[in-house]
Amino acid sequence: MSCVFIISAPSGSGKSTLVNNLLRREPNLLFSVSYTTRDPRGQERDGAQYRFVSREQFEAMIARDEFLEFAQVFGNYYGTHREVVERGQAEGRDVILDIDVQGARQLRRKIPDAISIFILAPSREELAKRLRARSEDSEETIARRLAGAAKEIEDFAQYDYVLVNEDVATASDLLHAIIQAERLRRRSPRVTARVEKILASFAAQPANGQTEQ
Ligand code: 5GP
Repeated sequence: MSCVFIISAPSGSGKSTLVNNLLRREPNLLFSVSYTTRDPRGQERDGAQYRFVSREQFEAMIARDEFLEFAQVFGNYYGTHREVVERGQAEGRDVILDIDVQGARQLRRKIPDAISIFILAPSREELAKRLRARSEDSEETIARRLAGAAKEIEDFAQYDYVLVNEDVATASDLLHAIIQAERLRRRSPRVTARVEKILASFAAQPANGQTEQ
């Protein structure tokens, strides 16, 4: 069983940068590419950041029960396909999901061992500054995102970890540290398997009572 990491953050909190830095350091992590009905932004390409589909396609997928979780965020659908997490488990790779607070709530019910991390900007002013610097959204959209952020932040208590993104380098290190620490938990099946292998190496030695030099 591999680990499932959920990352949520109000948009503009720097989450994508932190996740990209993490994936560079941990290339074996499987990033869950979500399906969405929103239009691609800037340099986004289908299949890289998201799978971009129509509302009709998304609703047909809901009807076929293809999503592990899905939600409507700012008027568009977003969802995690079941296959992504199943593939991670099959390949023994940890999976990382970038989903909103509604999706996180649904996923915890299905995968109670999932580890969740909430990322937020240090203040409203800083979040507004980052959203404007990104210059991908209109002022109206930015106002909507700021109002949505306050609501999302109120849900922080559902998460195992809370990371305030003051500066990218420090926050990237902290996010990496969380992933590394979680992988060393005693209850992790991978840790148990590793220790059993070490113990087996002892059992393989003849018990002649001699101390090795
Ligand atoms: P954006 O449009 O800025 O890329 O994302 C808007 C919000 O949708 C973000 O909070 C992001 O985490 C969330 N989101 C992205 N993919 C998924 C998904 O598959 N499921 C859910 N529930 N939320 C998602």
